[in-house]
Amino acid sequence: MKVKFLTIKKKTIVIFLFIVICLCGLFGAYYTIKASAMPRYTHTIVIDAGHGGRDGGAIGVSTGVTESELNLMYAKQLAKLCEDFGIKAVLTRSDMNGLYDDNAPNKKKSEMERRKRIINNSGADVMVSIHMNSFPLSSSEGAQIFYAKGSGGGFNLAKSVQTSVCKVFESARGYVSVGDYFVINTAQMPAILIECGFLSNPKEEKLLKDKNYCQKFCYSILAGVISYFEM
Ligand SMILES: [Zn+2]
Repeated sequence: MKVKFLTIKKKTIVIFLFIVICLCGLFGAYYTIKASAMPRYTHTIVIDAGHGGRDGGAIGVSTGVTESELNLMYAKQLAKLCEDFGIKAVLTRSDMNGLYDDNAPNKKKSEMERRKRIINNSGADVMVSIHMNSFPLSSSEGAQIFYAKGSGGGFNLAKSVQTSVCKVFESARGYVSVGDYFVINTAQMPAILIECGFLSNPKEEKLLKDKNYCQKFCYSILAGVISYFEM
């Protein structure tokens, strides 16, 4: 009787251990799959779509398209491409609403402070601010890239993106410039501001609105950002 009891007990223990091992295996496999399905980001970028809300920015000369909506279109496109390439993208705004507090007496100040907060809390390695230009002379065209005065990282990032953009877009400026802009001046990481083109130029306005042009342009920004990361 005692022997039988021991045999059953032994059998039960073996079965119990077998179940435990199987369950451990299943959990192990589950966590391996889960870990590999999660994106492994190499870097983080914060993308700032300029303007928004009641501040539309520049206006398209022939269609009346607002800079704020095009900035958002480019920022979202760039964010998508970055994510596809394993770069985590944080947006300062992801819809047409302004970043200001509606009750703030000075909406511009409120908006800029919020932008600064999002940018510097993003933990990003670089910041790219997207804008569209406007100038009284309608023949003005081409992308321009700005960095903050005295920022070595900003200069390198600007140079890298400018080289990449110039390879695809003949109209882009062949040099980078110092720009006195709040978002790049206050960013705590290498930061650039890109004026993608002129909404005061009807030909360029049409191109800037085009989804394929936007995608091509964002690809060239991304290529520049990646080569900066590889520097
Ligand atoms: Zn702007």
